[in-house]
Amino acid sequence: MTNKTLQLTDRLYEYLIGVSLREPEILRRLRAETSALPEGNMQIAPEQGQFMALLCELMGARRALEVGVFTGYSALSVALALPPDGRLIACDVNAEWTAIARRYWNEAGVGGKIDLRLAPAAETLAALLAGGGAGSFDLAFIDADKEGYRDYYELCLKLLRPRGLIVVDNVLWSGQVADPAVHDPATEAIRRFNAFVHADERVRVALLPVADGLTLALKRPTS
Ligand code: CA
Repeated sequence: MTNKTLQLTDRLYEYLIGVSLREPEILRRLRAETSALPEGNMQIAPEQGQFMALLCELMGARRALEVGVFTGYSALSVALALPPDGRLIACDVNAEWTAIARRYWNEAGVGGKIDLRLAPAAETLAALLAGGGAGSFDLAFIDADKEGYRDYYELCLKLLRPRGLIVVDNVLWSGQVADPAVHDPATEAIRRFNAFVHADERVRVALLPVADGLTLALKRPTS
């Protein structure tokens, strides 16, 4: 037994998946189709999608935001967990990848819950704020260009209700954030972002070593 987070060997990961993953067939097919793309590794892990669905239900989420859709696995996981009148505003700039997403969302019967906005996410989020959307969302998932994380975080924090939750992907960045030899712009942006959130008193924070690292930032009622 150890109080340190386990190093997941392939064998232990397979075990984890075997005893916990409940992946709907449509998500499994979307994952398979996406894995065949050259950018397939941008897709979130299936256990992460399942965890996000659990968070939605735990919070009673009805209105959600997503920054960075790719082929729609996380959006579909969340949309399936939202109630029938729930809504997810999904932001991306790539028409090709999100066409795959739409196909699966529609097949799953949740296309009507997902409002895809093909535009720079900062513009979409700013427009939501300008339209009176502050404080009206329960959950936000940030998983897009890493240099944009700080801006997305600030905008999402304003859009969240008190005790709303921001979930941020790739905060451990394949371990490169802890490698002093790595200084590319994305790695540096994630380092700055992680340090900022660590010190941000407006949120309660936890960084989970799930998949590529997942930060949970809960908006404090006073912020
Ligand atoms: Ca990601």
